[in-house]
Amino acid sequence: MTQIIAAAAPGLGLVRTSRLKLPLAIIIAASIFVTSGCTLFDNTREYSSERFIMDTIVSIKVFSEDKDRAEGAIRSAFEEFNRLAVLSDRFPEKGTPAFDKSDVCKINDNAGIRPVKVDDDVFTMIELSKKYNEISEGAFDITIGPLADLWGFGGDNQEVPSDAKIRALLPLVGSDKVEIDPQEKTVYLKKEDMLIDLGAVAKGYAAEKAAEVLADKGISRAVVNAGGNICALGGKTDSKPWVIGIQDPLDASSLVGTVEVKDEAAVTSGDYQRFFEVEGVKYHHILDPSTGKPARASIGVTVINQSSAVADILSTALFVAGPEKGLKLAEELGNTDVLYITKDKTITMSPGMEAKVSLSSGNAFKFGRDK
Ligand code: ADP
Ligand code: MG
Repeated sequence: MTQIIAAAAPGLGLVRTSRLKLPLAIIIAASIFVTSGCTLFDNTREYSSERFIMDTIVSIKVFSEDKDRAEGAIRSAFEEFNRLAVLSDRFPEKGTPAFDKSDVCKINDNAGIRPVKVDDDVFTMIELSKKYNEISEGAFDITIGPLADLWGFGGDNQEVPSDAKIRALLPLVGSDKVEIDPQEKTVYLKKEDMLIDLGAVAKGYAAEKAAEVLADKGISRAVVNAGGNICALGGKTDSKPWVIGIQDPLDASSLVGTVEVKDEAAVTSGDYQRFFEVEGVKYHHILDPSTGKPARASIGVTVINQSSAVADILSTALFVAGPEKGLKLAEELGNTDVLYITKDKTITMSPGMEAKVSLSSGNAFKFGRDK
């Protein structure tokens, strides 16, 4: 059984200094195609490749009968993923070529000054983010940038900021202060010093666009795994789904269970990837925009949705909202399955998720109200 781990993974929404230091072997493996020895039936083979993009390992796995088609499709899918990574990177320094290529840098640099014309996909990501900011009543907010920088998760400045410093930045947070013009495709941040951060949406969006490229190139069975943001095209076979492992937030070496997906995305947000501890308290990278502090209502949330971009957004939004509000919201939205893990070692699932999940036997969790 192929298992893909849907762990929350480091994203692009972090300070430069936090970039992952990868073992050389992984970097070298980055652009090498792997053809698995396994022949499923007829001439179908598995082709896969990995690259380090958006601060995480992105892997693309394709099943195909045609080697050239598979490898060409994977290359094109990575090109698309990379294009979106360059456009949405908010960390390049001003004056560098990378800064000039990033729409997010241009938007942030022109905060309080002027609207900026952006690429259609960047516009769509921001439009979607504004929509889900409203739907989640503020739990999801891409204007979290100044606070993310203040906390500096994973960087050299890992200390708990004072309440006064947090309070001083809160007026810069609020997606109502992001003005978008769908005709002109412009984005304007109304206050100077505002910063948008697409770290909670770009991996999911890019995975979806990469999967679309694979489909356009004639691939019907594939998985794009952007550091745990998993976007599945078709199933593993016509009759079998892909099986995705859900990491135990309290023990990185074990899974709480597995979930089956076919032609849909599974995305996890957790408190266990980017964090530091002070006096036994864990401070992690998913912030509650209403307080400016790490959200405490959950420790792991897995969302399944047909859109990988929406699943990515919702994994963060529902993490912040917590199980009480989040399960209701998922039900209202429809076509959204969610699994919550909370600090008191409780797993709570939407009814649709229960049908897709197999929990590991002997895990340390009890079940919330939906089980
Ligand atoms: P990961 O990037 O680790 O997969 P998420 O998708 O949950 O996890 O995104 C977290 C990133 O999004 C943070 O690193 C930060 O840049 C940004 N972020 C943090 N809190 C929020 C929030 N409430 N709404 C939108 N983006 C957020
Ligand atoms: Mg997310």
